[in-house]
Amino acid sequence: MVYDLHVHTSASDGILSPLEIIDLAVKLNIKGIAITDHDTVDGLQPALLYKKEKQLNIDIIAGIEMNTEYEEEEVHILGYFIDFYDLRLKKRLEEIRIARFERAEKMIDKLKKLGLLISLEQVQCMAKGDLIGRPHIASALIQNGYVFTITEAFNRFIGKGRPAYVNRYKFMPEEAIDLIKTSGGIPVLAHPGLISNQKTITNIIQLGIQGIEVYYPQHNESQIEYFLGISRTNNLLITGGSDYHGNTKESFRNSLGSGFINEEMMAKIMNYRRKT
Ligand code: AMP
Ligand code: ZN
Ligand code: FE
Ligand code: FE
Repeated sequence: MVYDLHVHTSASDGILSPLEIIDLAVKLNIKGIAITDHDTVDGLQPALLYKKEKQLNIDIIAGIEMNTEYEEEEVHILGYFIDFYDLRLKKRLEEIRIARFERAEKMIDKLKKLGLLISLEQVQCMAKGDLIGRPHIASALIQNGYVFTITEAFNRFIGKGRPAYVNRYKFMPEEAIDLIKTSGGIPVLAHPGLISNQKTITNIIQLGIQGIEVYYPQHNESQIEYFLGISRTNNLLITGGSDYHGNTKESFRNSLGSGFINEEMMAKIMNYRRKT
């Protein structure tokens, strides 16, 4: 039995709703999932209510994935067992939501100047929930026939350094770590294998990270060994997850349960949680 501790729902840029994700996880016989939407906790309450109402035999862990930037590089910080009613957390997430909305407007303007017409309503419709991210802009570009895939949209237009890219709000890893801790959560460095600068990983650990996502579909064997070593030397919890977003023909990433930890590893996390 496995735990997939990195799952996105339609509350951020996943395709399935929290309820659909839970149904799928139960069907796949997954013991537990952490819902870790980008910069939002909106998927958590519906998920927990659904589990309770249906009395489902699955563990749902309240999580988040905060998209931060460190020296020009994307660094994602996962938070587990957060109190999603925490007022400070909610206030900051609301600011981020508004900043993301304004960023989307700017990107739509830039695209328009390049001759690519998509509307804000269309992007909002793609976003389903309140949180707008670049994948939603990519989906609108596909819908209007400008690109075939999400990857093409990033590579040609909205990836960093591409002509319609707009910087995200300034949000630093230390603030994400602090917010997660003050709302009772455990901060974990997400997919370290996607970070190109090794010094960044060391620096982020120094900021007070408590775990590292060792098991991730895009990590190869040697990376897994390397990150296991880092977790030992720095006394970090070991986590794993698939980063499931739902798959479509325009965008295939990872399947649910394709990154995971076992029950023994999960027990260590639960134990750590009780002690802190
Ligand atoms: P945002 O936080 O709005 O800047 O969007 C970042 C998100 O876009 C990431 O968390 C990924 O889910 C997705 N993403 C980033 N780069 C790519 C890419 N090259 N292809 C597909 N999805 C991407
Ligand atoms: Zn995402
Ligand atoms: Fe991520
Ligand atoms: Fe993710």
